[in-house]
Amino acid sequence: MIRLKSPSQIAGIRRSCSLLASVMEELEHLVEPGVTTRVLDARAREMIGDNGGRPAFLGYHGFPGALCVSVNEEVIHGFPSDRVLLNGDVVSIDCGIAKEGYFSDSAITVGVGTVSSQVDQLLKRTYEALWNGIAAATAGRRVNDISRSVFRTVEPHGYGIVRPYCGHGVGLELHEDPQVPNYVGRGPNPRLKPGMVIAIEPMVNLGGDAVELLDDDWTVVTRDRSVSAHFEHTVVILKESTEVLTRRAGERVFAEAQQI
Ligand code: MG
Ligand code: MG
Repeated sequence: MIRLKSPSQIAGIRRSCSLLASVMEELEHLVEPGVTTRVLDARAREMIGDNGGRPAFLGYHGFPGALCVSVNEEVIHGFPSDRVLLNGDVVSIDCGIAKEGYFSDSAITVGVGTVSSQVDQLLKRTYEALWNGIAAATAGRRVNDISRSVFRTVEPHGYGIVRPYCGHGVGLELHEDPQVPNYVGRGPNPRLKPGMVIAIEPMVNLGGDAVELLDDDWTVVTRDRSVSAHFEHTVVILKESTEVLTRRAGERVFAEAQQI
């Protein structure tokens, strides 16, 4: 069941998302060679707690961190740890906040120091796919329009698009209907309506699309161990526009985002 949010619920979700945007902005700047992923997690907990929120991932089905931190071939759901980030790594930071009962969800993938040009392009194109997905997420269109837009942005480059995990409704819970895949499948294809709040989150691999689960039962990695990128925003569909609720202060709207 897709829950359409009222204006007051959207206002609450907006506050949760705005806190998350400032947390993500801070974390992005903390990433550098020599930092452990646990330091990022600690800073996120501190900022969220200081601002009246709760890390939504912490304890979710037993997850041990405020962040999912996924390095290099890790796609999603990695644990914060004492792993030291090294020059040339990429780190995906995924965070969710519950604030006053309203949920937000956002992810970025950041290069540590200097990354190869191949990896740099993967990050740029996955980020572009997120914004092309957002551009397609307007009232009256359908979930498949988002999926198609994401897929067509990255597929021509020969990347692997992760299929078993996808975007989702969010706002009153961390994960709600509908599912928002990064490819056009045969699943439900609901129409986008004003009041829908969704997280759009392309996950794209430098190599093949196959992924597997590590023995910790959480961390998803690429089967061929190629590097993976992940970007996510929470957006609200409004009558005349779509608002990117987790947009960071320094982040421009992709004006050239194409309606593919
Ligand atoms: Mg997320
Ligand atoms: Mg999500």
